[in-house]
Amino acid sequence: MAKLIDGRAIAERVYAELRDEIASLKSRGATPGLAVVLVGDDPASRAYVRAKDKMCRELGLHSVKLELPATTTQEELLARVNALNRDEKIDGILVQSPPPPQIDEAAIVRALDPRKDVDGFHPLNVAKLTLDDDSGFVPCTPLGCLRLLRETGTVLSAANVVVLGRSMIVGKPMALLLMRKGIDATVTVIHSRTRNIPEICRRADVIVAAIGRPHFVRTEFVREGATVIDVGINRMEDAGNERGYKLVGDVDFDGVSKVAGAITPVPGGVGPMTIAMLMSNTIKACRQNSTSPGTVLKN
Ligand code: NAP
Repeated sequence: MAKLIDGRAIAERVYAELRDEIASLKSRGATPGLAVVLVGDDPASRAYVRAKDKMCRELGLHSVKLELPATTTQEELLARVNALNRDEKIDGILVQSPPPPQIDEAAIVRALDPRKDVDGFHPLNVAKLTLDDDSGFVPCTPLGCLRLLRETGTVLSAANVVVLGRSMIVGKPMALLLMRKGIDATVTVIHSRTRNIPEICRRADVIVAAIGRPHFVRTEFVREGATVIDVGINRMEDAGNERGYKLVGDVDFDGVSKVAGAITPVPGGVGPMTIAMLMSNTIKACRQNSTSPGTVLKN
């Protein structure tokens, strides 16, 4: 039976480290601040925004939650983003995805001050990740997956890692991180046009599944002893559940946990780490903003 990788417990370790850093920043007059902007009333997005705001408050960060109507125009949203870019109390800005259809999300991301882009989606931060420049921000989910792998002692140097999915939010930055000099994994990226997926996966020492297909990765995809990180969050019908559905990953947990060496559950694996890394990126932004030459410390 695979060892369970407990994302909640590892996220708590991250928070313990962050609390020390927040105390040190506060002693120098800087309180990290995060603004989360939600446009519309998508229930899942609303729940994510609430969770992020709650965690900010628990850590003693300055938290701003902007809830805008679904009818918000591109210009109105840009004006809000520009105001947050100028707000000295705000170190990190996140615009919750997906926005309503009238919003050009790419244009909003480009409008963010890259020094406050704690989601790591701005082109400058994407470039910095590609260039191995640590001053940039790496998207929170792949950063969380890397931390899970490190905390569980998974050997990544020269390991064969298969990443399923090539989105800008998870798959692509995950692959870039893993192939970095110093991490040194050999990375294969799978997408919807890839052939022989089970065969490619079976060669992997580590599998990171991020495709949004419930239970796609089955026992026959996984080499005995491999480490499996399940990023997927999918709703599956479940009459026995009061909500009528349950959340499942991209991995068939029941089958795969019998062959894998270690595996993340859904929920309780990658999800808690994503929020922990958002907090970590916000604190990094505060540290960078308050120590760059010529910057006056806040508060
Ligand atoms: P996405 O933007 O829809 O990208 C999905 C990727 O998977 C694409 O690259 C797509 O290939 C590939 N794909 C889809 N079906 C495939 C198939 N049958 N075989 C091989 N590849 C396939 O999704 P995402 O935003 O990266 O999210 C992926 C999953 O992770 C979702 O379940 C999402 O809810 C979850 N997620 C979780 C967290 C967390 O905090 N735990 C955070 C973010 C996302 P093409 O490029 O060829 O279309």
